[in-house]
Amino acid sequence: MSENLNVLHSTQVIIEQALTRLGYSEAMVELLKEPIRVLTVRIPVRMDDNSVKVFTGYRAQHNDAVGPTKGGVRFHPDVNEDEVKALSIWMSLKCGIVDLPYGGGKGGVICDPRQMSFGELERLSRGYVRAVSQIVGPTKDIPAPDVMTNSQIMAWMMDEYSRIREFDAPGFITGKPIVLGGSHGRETATAKGVTIMIDQALKKKGIPLKNARVVIQGFGNAGSYLAKFMHDMGACVVGISDVYGGLYNPDGLDIEYLLDRRDSFGTVTKLFKDTLTNQELLELDCDILVPAAIENQITAENAGRIKAPIIVEAANGPTTIEATKILTDRGVLLVPDVLASAGGVVVSYFEWVQNNQGYYWTEAEVHARLQEMMEKGFENVYNVHMTRKVDMRLAAYMVGVRKMAEAARFRGWVN
Ligand code: GLU
Repeated sequence: MSENLNVLHSTQVIIEQALTRLGYSEAMVELLKEPIRVLTVRIPVRMDDNSVKVFTGYRAQHNDAVGPTKGGVRFHPDVNEDEVKALSIWMSLKCGIVDLPYGGGKGGVICDPRQMSFGELERLSRGYVRAVSQIVGPTKDIPAPDVMTNSQIMAWMMDEYSRIREFDAPGFITGKPIVLGGSHGRETATAKGVTIMIDQALKKKGIPLKNARVVIQGFGNAGSYLAKFMHDMGACVVGISDVYGGLYNPDGLDIEYLLDRRDSFGTVTKLFKDTLTNQELLELDCDILVPAAIENQITAENAGRIKAPIIVEAANGPTTIEATKILTDRGVLLVPDVLASAGGVVVSYFEWVQNNQGYYWTEAEVHARLQEMMEKGFENVYNVHMTRKVDMRLAAYMVGVRKMAEAARFRGWVN
């Protein structure tokens, strides 16, 4: 029988396991396995040829027992309601693992930014904010960048929200340009967080970072900065890929050159003749594999052929439940997405705190605090993994869901 690749379903299965192991009631499972609120919106946008195109968007808020909800907005042709719901649950888990005062949220618009002009993207971004404005806000639900959205889009969204509310509201959204109240270190935060996780995982496995062979699937915000950081730290990046394919060199790729030739959507391999498929890339001989692209890349079908002893998930949902089991049984140390990719939301939290205080930190302060929070998150998850004898993903869910469940219990929502 083939695997169920519905990411919402997989998440719900693990949420239930985590809450049951922690001793929570069935009602708690019922509450936390779905978002408390999902809004579907239709967004009419005037296109450059003067026609009107109507886009569909979503905003899901998983749970606000801990505090306002928080999470990015993705622009992608494959966005759908179940995916947005699952992504909002993952945001809750990330916030729980690194102990932020937030629940999870997520938004998405079904569109292809690669086929849209600057003006069309601006009108779509503003239209999305108008459509969801009643349920978002600096103390309600705080959006951020995600797949194919960036600081320019955050700037338009912040401007639109501020106009609607008639006051300047930098704390409405994070991932903004620095001049509009963005934080130092936010642009590189997800990749920085992943490097901290790689460092921790290498220590557990007793592998030195120097010359460790790294393969990275995806060359977007997370993957490209990660390639640079790994290269700068003395690791050897032997493989990278984008949506069109992968590049491999056992002696190390010329990362500076690739970063220079990369376009704003993270594609670069089209410039090369000799490419691998993304599936071949995942199976390369290496010390660390980092899926930094999209969901369901490592499945029951290919998990047995993965050679890396360490997998650090920079993407959301790249590995299925069955693949997690196969990899864990084979002794692979897997740092799951909800832990490994939490660096982005950690620095988003710092950005929001700075906006609320009107007092801005240096890049060094941001990095030091990020390092501390990510290391603590790793230790907590790793300890649960060892003491409760559960795989790293279930351990991460157990750590991530506990604070939210406790908050819901104290509020008297569920026993
Ligand atoms: N989109 C990012 C994530 O999936 C960041 C979310 C945020 O900064 O709020 O973690």
